[in-house]
Amino acid sequence: MMQLDFFKQTKETDVKNLTKVCRYCEEELDIEQFALRYKGYEAKNTQGRDHICKNCKKESDNYRAALKKVSPKQPEDMLCQCCGDKVQTFYFDHCHDTGTFRGWLCRSCNVGLGFLGDNIEGLEKAIAYLRETDERTQAVTILDSIKEDVVDEQS
Ligand SMILES: [Zn+2]
Ligand SMILES: [Zn+2]
Repeated sequence: MMQLDFFKQTKETDVKNLTKVCRYCEEELDIEQFALRYKGYEAKNTQGRDHICKNCKKESDNYRAALKKVSPKQPEDMLCQCCGDKVQTFYFDHCHDTGTFRGWLCRSCNVGLGFLGDNIEGLEKAIAYLRETDERTQAVTILDSIKEDVVDEQS
């Protein structure tokens, strides 16, 4: 019964009563102040919307455009300045904290940096995680080879 009540409540929640905290200005604003991320997406809650408010988005877009004008041009070799892979399309990367140009990246590097916190701390956590899981994976591989040995002995 509790669950049914919960669903009913969620469905009836008016979008206008929802708020979200902007990642840039850190203001708690009406959900309508955050643009939908996907065209045709019907938002019933706070999901599927930008993490920054429309005002900050506009400011950030203007800033990016101005920064692009004074930043180095796209590399002619068409190589990502992070991973070194050949790219079709470059993505303009800049530091959100200092507002300075960082480099021209492939899509994966650009999105990847963003998802991992866009800073050294976030990436170091990811590296530490991979190192740690790598050790665990090796342990599993050893287990597998032990199992194979057992099978060999039995046959
Ligand atoms: Zn904002
Ligand atoms: Zn790259």
